Amino acid sequence: MSTSAALSLPADPHSYARPAEVSVRHLLLDLSVDFRSHTLAGIATWQLQHQGEATELWLDTRNLQIDAITAGNEHREEPTTWENGTPDAIRGQSLRIQLPVGASQVSIRYRTSPQAAALQWLNPEQTAGHQQPFLFTQSQAILARTWLPCQDSPGVRFTYEATVRVPAHMLALMSAENPQMRNALGEYHFRMAQPIPAYLMALAVGDLAFTPLSGRTGIYAEPVTLPAATSEFADLEKMVAAAEELYGPYQWERYDLLVLPPSFPFGGMENPRLTFVTPTILAGDRSLTSLVAHELAHSWSGNLVTNATWNDFWLNEGFTVYFERRIMEKLYGRPYADMLQVLGHTALLHTLEELGPASADTHLHLNLAGRDPDEGLNEIAYEKGDYLLLTLEHLIGREELDAFIKEYFTRHRFQSMDTASFIAYLRHELLDKHPGLEEELQLAAWVNAPGIPAIAPPVTSERFDRVEQSLQDWLGGTPSTLLPTQEWSSHEWVHFLHGLPDNLPAPRLAELDAAFQLTHSGNSEILAAWFPHTLAAGYQPADAALEAFLIRVGRRKFLVPLYKALLAASDGHERAQAVYTQARPNYHSVASGTLDALLGRS
Ligand SMILES: [Zn+2]
Repeated sequence: MSTSAALSLPADPHSYARPAEVSVRHLLLDLSVDFRSHTLAGIATWQLQHQGEATELWLDTRNLQIDAITAGNEHREEPTTWENGTPDAIRGQSLRIQLPVGASQVSIRYRTSPQAAALQWLNPEQTAGHQQPFLFTQSQAILARTWLPCQDSPGVRFTYEATVRVPAHMLALMSAENPQMRNALGEYHFRMAQPIPAYLMALAVGDLAFTPLSGRTGIYAEPVTLPAATSEFADLEKMVAAAEELYGPYQWERYDLLVLPPSFPFGGMENPRLTFVTPTILAGDRSLTSLVAHELAHSWSGNLVTNATWNDFWLNEGFTVYFERRIMEKLYGRPYADMLQVLGHTALLHTLEELGPASADTHLHLNLAGRDPDEGLNEIAYEKGDYLLLTLEHLIGREELDAFIKEYFTRHRFQSMDTASFIAYLRHELLDKHPGLEEELQLAAWVNAPGIPAIAPPVTSERFDRVEQSLQDWLGGTPSTLLPTQEWSSHEWVHFLHGLPDNLPAPRLAELDAAFQLTHSGNSEILAAWFPHTLAAGYQPADAALEAFLIRVGRRKFLVPLYKALLAASDGHERAQAVYTQARPNYHSVASGTLDALLGRS
């Protein structure tokens, strides 16, 4: 990060850090992982970059126990004083460290809390192999500060080296250069040479093994999961090559996937060099791999050019969704990518309806000050952001848009970007070359107004048009077994299920289930689209499968709508509470935080 970039950053409402005075530039981390006490303990040494005459370093923390702090230079450090600010439920606490004159680094001896929100500690029964415990982190959006005292703002980047000690015969992995073999001592060394923001700090520890897919790609997973994962993601190298063809060279050397236990709260997390993914995309037929294309695309949009604050989240996600669908189109053709576009658009319309026509949360540029960014971030950043780029493509053509995006990534690599700077860049590099284009695009309405501007082109899919015809036929009396479903992908099934009327009686669902075994589908997306209908109809043959799904899977995208549907069903409150009591220990805090509120447990 250059000095000028640091000085021009907008204030981050979710960080106590003052990077414009002194910023962190390199981390030396030494951590021991204790599965008995559910804590990490060690020393974080931050090497600093002074932007002025600052005498204090401001860091973010939450629930950390600080034992000692020294400051000085790489040859000598002396104890220094520090002060913790008043705790805030969302932001945690500031850690204000006195810097002696000329101090170029500080070392913090600390320990995490067993309740650290970023960390999920699984006992052996909660893993696929049932042999060893498991630990993984989820730092986005502002949870890195629960396991590392840091400048926890996406506008601050640093490189790092780490030593991590784990129980013997377990493997540790980070968002860094990673080991491919376990060692008997359980001590691992990591190096991340490209500067990253704190939310991309990641650690996973477990009974893990590795299989290479190509010279620069591979899969980490529990040994029992590894064969299925290796087969599911066989196209990984092709994906990386397709992405590079679109928007320039991959900048992070290796690209590996880590398949986590099912309690991982998200579909994926784009931790650099090592994407974390949910096992719920192991469908057996490679039908849910667009999620991997999404995380891979973040290697450019997000990890290379990073939203400066969470208010600018659409710059990470809108570009990534657009890029993801372009990768999928390159690999599997336009009709396939069109299905993904329509599914995304359906989700966007649903979110717009939920938030209402006047909601400022449907602007691309958000105002999340005073709110937990994890709760404020929704489909808008992803799908409305993508839709803006799709509209631009519609107006100027792909060739020019692709050249713009490629240059945008190249020129701002390893830097952060806020909405105002992006718009200035977009004007200068693209819009101003086409008189009247900015007005035609209705740029201001996309960024600072609710809803979708009228210029947005329609989103359609021929394959889904055929699904809709089948749906009409079935509703008109054609038996399930006569529908032309043989070639349907899981996307067609999901679209079909989304299109079913809300009030279908149980015997109609039974007829579908007998023909297509939906209740026993191995595809998580199909199950998540099916269960709301079975709950609404009181179709009891699906109840056990639903409960098993809620107990096994911790992915919030599935849990929230399913618990809502369960709460709305007859006896739903009691059933939801009973399942939640059983399932909650298996959920990460970002999932249980949302569900506690939904189920009145907070
Ligand atoms: Zn994303």
